[in-house]
Amino acid sequence: MAYVITATCVDVNDMACVEECPVDCIYEGARKSYIQPSQCINCAACQPVCPVDAIYSARQLPEHLAVDQQDNRAFFVEVLPGRDAPLGSPGGSRRTGPVGVDTPRIAALPARP
Ligand code: SF4
Ligand code: SF4
Repeated sequence: MAYVITATCVDVNDMACVEECPVDCIYEGARKSYIQPSQCINCAACQPVCPVDAIYSARQLPEHLAVDQQDNRAFFVEVLPGRDAPLGSPGGSRRTGPVGVDTPRIAALPARP
């Protein structure tokens, strides 16, 4: 089971976790980042560097945050606003660069105070 970036990342999105990921599977949206679940190797390297504790192993994800696991997956399998195809598994976030959009759920969240 992959690691999950929860909505706590919204409007922080400092990319500290991206630097730690050995398989380059953390992709940058507009307001938060998202882990590609089929690329994640569950190494846990990203978790301790997050300044807001937004990252969980799917096994340890509290039940009330399950929606974040679904939303994280949706970022890759659904067609994001302004795009004409799902992002899928594009082979590395550095090669892909910032995606620049979020899932509709994340985009609709109020700004972090
Ligand atoms: S658990 Fe490891 S492979 Fe998965 S996103 Fe974090 S750093 Fe990358
Ligand atoms: S380290 Fe935390 S706040 Fe920064 S981008 Fe990753 S999940 Fe978001």
